[in-house]
Amino acid sequence: MNQVILLNKRPSGKPQLSDFQFSNEGKPVISEGEVLLKAKYVSVDPYLRGRMNDAKSYIPSFELNQPISSGIIAEVVESYHTNFTKGDFVSGLLLWKEFQTSNGEGLMKVDGSRAPLSAYLGVLGLTGLTAFMGLTEIGKPQKGETLVVSGAAGAVGSVAGQIGKLKGCRVVGIAGTDEKVEMLTSKFGFDAAINYHSTRDMNAAIAKACPHGVDLYFDNVGGEISDAVHNHINRFARIVVCGSISVYNATSVPVGPRIQPFLIKNSALMQGFIVNNFNAKFPDAIKQLSNWLAEEKLTYNETIREGFNAIPQAFIDLFEGKNKGKMVVKV
Ligand code: NDP
Repeated sequence: MNQVILLNKRPSGKPQLSDFQFSNEGKPVISEGEVLLKAKYVSVDPYLRGRMNDAKSYIPSFELNQPISSGIIAEVVESYHTNFTKGDFVSGLLLWKEFQTSNGEGLMKVDGSRAPLSAYLGVLGLTGLTAFMGLTEIGKPQKGETLVVSGAAGAVGSVAGQIGKLKGCRVVGIAGTDEKVEMLTSKFGFDAAINYHSTRDMNAAIAKACPHGVDLYFDNVGGEISDAVHNHINRFARIVVCGSISVYNATSVPVGPRIQPFLIKNSALMQGFIVNNFNAKFPDAIKQLSNWLAEEKLTYNETIREGFNAIPQAFIDLFEGKNKGKMVVKV
């Protein structure tokens, strides 16, 4: 038996369990040049929501009645491939299947003795790289500047804020619960943090937390939170548009304040990005992130759900903020 998760329906608004379909297929058999992989840790990520729509984007949409894919750490359980041996662990963009075959393309070996395997989906994987690349390549933080991070207690945000601290910024985080806000200052070293759910006047809260304005905004959420931050940007501010989770489930085009006058009067830069734009710099970035981890200058959180069956709900829960740090499913 080999369990598989298919896209059953394209979600309308917030994803539902009924948008996913569990199915069983036979355990695959490998041929020469292939490996048999057993999924160990599955990453669920907000960007997968966009792939569930039938819309043109930077990455193809998932097809209906076909398996969903995401970052997965898998164990090589059989190998007819010269580069992989039984017992290796690999990371790759793989299908939501308990077992699958691969010809090795796109697979990267990961070393569970250097870091927990799940870390290769988070701080030493896509989300860590996203924080590092967006912040350093576009944000270019300077010592003494004020950095605001939204989605700050999540996988990307918590790393972005800590890198900001390492670069000498005053860092203010925005997150959705008191527990997360407390964690930002106590565990991740942020200077201040705002709970956007319990704060009635975000504009005033940002003014208070950023008495010298905002030089750099690392935005994971968009929407009204970002509207409030934009009011406080300084001259030559950089707005790094990493994610916009507050509108991923929108069913019509959201409309907010017009951003152009803020950008003009502050000579500000606003730039979106996709982490893969910086592929060539990944090895150096991973080296830097690993060094910071080893030196205990960087730390991370994970929310680990258990069991292959838990994958769809774990994904849905990202939109309710039920994760602290990287949401991962241990199969
Ligand atoms: P997170 O770990 O940050 O998880 C998502 C978090 O978003 C939740 O925990 C929740 O935290 C917050 N959230 C959910 N709904 C809303 C809402 N309506 N308004 C505000 N916050 C909300 O996920 P990731 O770190 O993996 O991703 C963070 C962002 O970065 C996403 O937007 C993602 O799409 C983007 N991203 C972009 C990449 C790129 O290449 N540009 C690559 C990877 C990720 P809370 O409790 O604080 O609300």
